[in-house]
Amino acid sequence: MPQVHFRFYAELNDFLKVGQHHKRFTIDLDRRTSIKDLIESLGVPHTEVEVILVNGHSVDFSYIVKDNDDISVYPVFETVDITPLLKLRSQPLRTMHFVLDCHLGRLARYLRQLGFDTLYRNDYDDETLAQISAKEHRILLTRDRSLLKRSIITHGYFVRESDPRKQLDEVLNRFDLKNSITPFGRCTRCNGIVVPVDKETIDDQLEPKTRKYFDTFWQCSECKQIYWEGSHVDKMHELNLEVMQ
Ligand SMILES: [Zn+2]
Repeated sequence: MPQVHFRFYAELNDFLKVGQHHKRFTIDLDRRTSIKDLIESLGVPHTEVEVILVNGHSVDFSYIVKDNDDISVYPVFETVDITPLLKLRSQPLRTMHFVLDCHLGRLARYLRQLGFDTLYRNDYDDETLAQISAKEHRILLTRDRSLLKRSIITHGYFVRESDPRKQLDEVLNRFDLKNSITPFGRCTRCNGIVVPVDKETIDDQLEPKTRKYFDTFWQCSECKQIYWEGSHVDKMHELNLEVMQ
């Protein structure tokens, strides 16, 4: 039976079976298959892959695997210049707009607090998430590996951590976002852009105590939610300081 040899690099090993980590291994080729399907059959979503070398030459996802191919698979490089190699995506992955899977609600709030454009609803189904990611060039964040195997999704990332606060650090590091933080840039409720607003403009909407004790206000340009110094804004500042440490 035809065989091919694989080696996966860096964090792509997270997805492989024990015994395949960080070393060359051989598998049987029991069918005619594209390299995309073969890589995903080993558990690695194509969205995690940036460069594939076959016998030293870079190929795209449609490459049909042949007997005795020697295949090296590399993850998305955020900092290394790979311009001499064939990139698998025409759109840069650095477009920092996100859409989050339903189980990542807390992470969505954190990202919004730091000003990142983050679409999230707890009732988006897989098809909707995939469509939004593709049409709006949003990076899909999910802990559902099978969702990332959909061909339509070019920009996706499998979130490793399960704790929301650790997920935030993971995403900030992975996409090198720390210099792009705009504290309090987005409404945590709806992702609308938050802008400063004069107290007089919203005076009639304030509770008596809020009116008495606070003078600086912001408002969501979409859902009109009002924010002021105090719990919301303090939490945001704390988060910002924390992640910048
Ligand atoms: Zn809003």
